[in-house]
Amino acid sequence: MAINFGKRFGLGGLRLPISDPNEQRSIDYETLENMIDIFMDHGFNYFDTSYIYHGGFSEIALGKALVDRYPRDSFLLSTKMPIKFMKKKEDMETIFEEQLEKCHVDYFDFYLIHSIGKETYENCKKWDTFEFLKQKRAEGKFREFGVSLHDSPEFLDLILTEHPEIDFVIEQINYIDWENPAIRSKEIYEVAVKHGKPIVVMEACKGGTLAEVPDEAKKIMKEYNPDASIASWAYRFVGSLPGVRVVLAGMPRMEFLYDNIKTFEEFQPLNEEEYKIIDKVVEIINANTPIPCTVCRYCESECPKNIAIPDYFALYNDMKRLEKSSSANDVLTQAFYYGNFIEQGRGPASACIKCEKCVKVCPQRLEIPKYLEEYVVAELESYNPEAQIKK
Ligand code: SF4
Ligand code: SF4
Repeated sequence: MAINFGKRFGLGGLRLPISDPNEQRSIDYETLENMIDIFMDHGFNYFDTSYIYHGGFSEIALGKALVDRYPRDSFLLSTKMPIKFMKKKEDMETIFEEQLEKCHVDYFDFYLIHSIGKETYENCKKWDTFEFLKQKRAEGKFREFGVSLHDSPEFLDLILTEHPEIDFVIEQINYIDWENPAIRSKEIYEVAVKHGKPIVVMEACKGGTLAEVPDEAKKIMKEYNPDASIASWAYRFVGSLPGVRVVLAGMPRMEFLYDNIKTFEEFQPLNEEEYKIIDKVVEIINANTPIPCTVCRYCESECPKNIAIPDYFALYNDMKRLEKSSSANDVLTQAFYYGNFIEQGRGPASACIKCEKCVKVCPQRLEIPKYLEEYVVAELESYNPEAQIKK
């Protein structure tokens, strides 16, 4: 039976509404249920989650707020196998069953190997993961299986060649990474197209950073189209690409949902003039964002020093932006927030021991210890003498 993908915009379970900004597991169920009702009422039906999102609570949240409240055939549910966190072959079966239970379903529509990379691919070979997935698909435990990827185009080409049975891929695509030599979004997209695989897009708005561009870029966008939100440019960029099946968006707040519904309800592909505007915006953003962190938080749990890596990077980026557009007081405000993290028991940036555990899991391939030392310690932490002594 053909799959009905609704209107090509999916609700991403990485950034659900939460009631406590310091606790990823504090899902705000009232807001989430409202969001789901509005999303479904507007004819959207695609939900994407994973075993690890929200400290393991994203799947549980969708089980309660979606699956328990809607007929199973009225939505599409996608989740992912946490291959990076598995220790042995038997974990595939155990975790798969646990995921079905957490989501309150007896089948998924889509199931993916989460963030496959060179190291995890070795485990996939050792544990016959692709045979396991083919078997589950044949048993009707999901309809299609795919891979989500934060690796190189060459690696994607290799696995799609060695495993033509893969049905689709989830890729990080957005206008700022399109020609970014560290991410290589365009080349990764082209590999999937070459293999004829449908693409689901993640990080279209780069963790929300493309919803808040520098003033100079905002001015150009607003002059061209005052009614369009800044985020809508990012979503229209990926939605305009041929072969894109669904665009995912994490929406911790209701206004993001309404805005994205507006973008995708009567979707308009970008025109030539808009592409040129995006080229200019990319130049401006690159000149204004010293640390391109998407706040995915994958690195945090890896850090033996409990360093609030993404929060410090966000504070630093804000500080640089404020330095250009505002008063020194605003810079000190960022330093004050930094001090709050230290008071709450988070490790200061200067406590980094350069073990690189964070680097191994960073989808953006950021040189985290270097940024901590050269940017956060050198400039932000220097406003907080207290942080220097509480290591
Ligand atoms: S390199 Fe530094 S920031 Fe990264 S995990 Fe190790 S101690 Fe933490
Ligand atoms: S540093 Fe990398 S892994 Fe950590 S939150 Fe930022 S993008 Fe994610």
